[in-house]
Amino acid sequence: AAKRSAGTDFVVYEPGLGNTTSTRKDVVAELAQAIEDGELRTVYQPLIDLRSGRPIGAEALVRWQHPVDGLRSPDQFIGLAEESGLITRIGELVLGDACRQAARWVAECQGQDDLLVTVNLSARQVADDQIVDQVREALAASGLDPHRLVLEITETVLMQDRDAAAATLWLLKGLGVRIAIDDFGTGYSSLAYLRRFPIDMLKVAREFVDGLGRDAHDDVITRAIVELAGTLGLLTVAEGVETTQQSETVTALGCDIAQGYLFSRPIEADAVSAVMSASWLSDNVRPLPVELGR
Ligand code: C2E
Ligand code: MG
Ligand code: MG
Ligand code: MG
Repeated sequence: AAKRSAGTDFVVYEPGLGNTTSTRKDVVAELAQAIEDGELRTVYQPLIDLRSGRPIGAEALVRWQHPVDGLRSPDQFIGLAEESGLITRIGELVLGDACRQAARWVAECQGQDDLLVTVNLSARQVADDQIVDQVREALAASGLDPHRLVLEITETVLMQDRDAAAATLWLLKGLGVRIAIDDFGTGYSSLAYLRRFPIDMLKVAREFVDGLGRDAHDDVITRAIVELAGTLGLLTVAEGVETTQQSETVTALGCDIAQGYLFSRPIEADAVSAVMSASWLSDNVRPLPVELGR
């Protein structure tokens, strides 16, 4: 966990960001350089359409391939990227990658009308109206149909600066993209925002999916979320599906889409491409082989 002290140079202790103590300034400089040097890349976790069992797209997830320390996960640097403002540049990279890859998947899977890609936006990105231009440019550069791009935000983001967030979301909506609530159910419990904001999709948080079939509360909560979404006409995605029991339960509850290690870990864009086109071309497909996700 990151710890900081007041003052100009914050001290950051982060497992994986080296075992030494470096100043915040050092790590920010290192991250800025890494962006310059192309050490950040995007991986994709397949989304499975529970009705057909076929992959219908993927969530874009950023990775930092550090030349010495190896792979760094977003939890190790997104916070710092937010505080320092570097998230704007990272977000632009991920949006560009995701739109370009999704356009390619669409070309490879002609006729798969519901194919989509999702991209995470953090609080600072939503607070900054540059995001609207970034999304417009990523769509224009890739030629991706806007409705195939789904932007994921958390409940916390919506609650932080409601009016600014609402304004930005409506502008994004105006571009034709869709909006998802990530980790749904773990943030503020006010549901009023589902009316106030243009939401298209709810992602049921992994912490609820985790207990399905074992913890009656998690079954009840997941059922309630899926029913709420159904009533409001929103798509549902079950996050963090790791077992066949969880997959069967979310399917029985009427969830539309699933994502999790059962199907695949986040993988390279080329691997998603291979999986999606193979499954699209073949008549008799099963969900992804688990060994694909390393
Ligand atoms: P998230 O958006 O909720 O993404 C899902 C996270 O759960 C991913 O972790 C994914 O690898 C992991 N996951 C997926 N299936 C399973 C499963 O079956 N079991 C378990 N235990 N975990 C699973 P990851 O890639 O480390 O990302 C962590 C968080 O970092 C993301 O949570 C998201 O909030 C943030 N993030 C990732 N990429 C970006 C990005 O490009 N921009 C921004 N702003 N945030 C990002
Ligand atoms: Mg997400
Ligand atoms: Mg999530
Ligand atoms: Mg999250």
